[in-house]
Amino acid sequence: MAPRQAEPPQEHLAAAAAQVPMVLLNDGQALPQLGLGVWQIDNAIAPEVVTSAINAGYRLIDTAAGYGNESGVGTALRRARNQFYITTKLRNENQGYDRTMRAFEASAARLQVDIVDLYLIHWPCPQQGAYLETWRALVELQKQGCVRSIGVSNFMADHLERIIHESGVVPAVNQIELHPAFQQRELRNIHERYGIVTQAWSPLGQGAALADPRISAIAERCGRSPAQIVLRWHLENGTIAIPKSANVARMAENIDLFGFELTSDDHAVISRLDRHDGRIGPDPAAYGRIGLLRRLSRRISRS
Ligand code: NAD
Repeated sequence: MAPRQAEPPQEHLAAAAAQVPMVLLNDGQALPQLGLGVWQIDNAIAPEVVTSAINAGYRLIDTAAGYGNESGVGTALRRARNQFYITTKLRNENQGYDRTMRAFEASAARLQVDIVDLYLIHWPCPQQGAYLETWRALVELQKQGCVRSIGVSNFMADHLERIIHESGVVPAVNQIELHPAFQQRELRNIHERYGIVTQAWSPLGQGAALADPRISAIAERCGRSPAQIVLRWHLENGTIAIPKSANVARMAENIDLFGFELTSDDHAVISRLDRHDGRIGPDPAAYGRIGLLRRLSRRISRS
């Protein structure tokens, strides 16, 4: 049997939580700048992991219908009443207005919440041709008060511009792959122009960023870990970061980002780690095709 992980001292962690800045969204709501991502955390252990994260000072939890752990996350959130912000995301196969409305209801039921703080379209899936009507469903969910903030994930410039121009509603957040090897400067500039907050998924490059000797050198000079350097870099760039860990000591390390600052030289060094081929995940322009049969049945039901 694996040894139980020791809980770090509570007063230190409460202090860490209090130091996490809040980021103001374009709809007047706010979110903590650091959260816990729970992709690949099994539903069976999600209650324990999320409870540990809340005890460690995390106030933002990032899940998705596609992660299969909304009900486990919901169990932990029920215990931690009002002390959290929950993000969840629509599965690709549920895009389309009516499907989205139903899928949202199912997500909220699994999470055991009446209101979701942030609801995202997980991927644009441009080949499905449904992200605009899906976005209109999110706008309606927000109007109905079921969702505090609405946003998107993995949207590229053309997808963003289309929903903004067609619906007149600017997403509060675009959650994108973002880490030192893949910095997405152009897209971040577009976010800034529209007032969209950038959320970084895989903020540690799934661990790869931590092995870079230039990050380790900064870490050594600051007396911090490589993960703390990368996460501090995200915070200083104004990005919301949602690192994943199921390990209590790492959760504590990843929120202990205060009391030090990176220099402009550190930023310049990390800036140069950006690579054209640095993407880890799928290309959003091509990801999330649905089968021919589903497309045909959609076309028939629309006609
Ligand atoms: P990540 O960059 O958070 O890296 C996670 C990996 O780093 C894990 O292997 C973990 O054990 C390790 N790690 C964490 N803290 C560490 C530390 N202090 N020291 C050493 N290693 C450490 O990658 P991720 O899990 O892919 O992304 C984080 C979250 O982003 C996910 O859980 C999910 O919520 C979200 N996400 C969203 C999308 C999307 O399409 N919207 C896609 C992928 C991930």
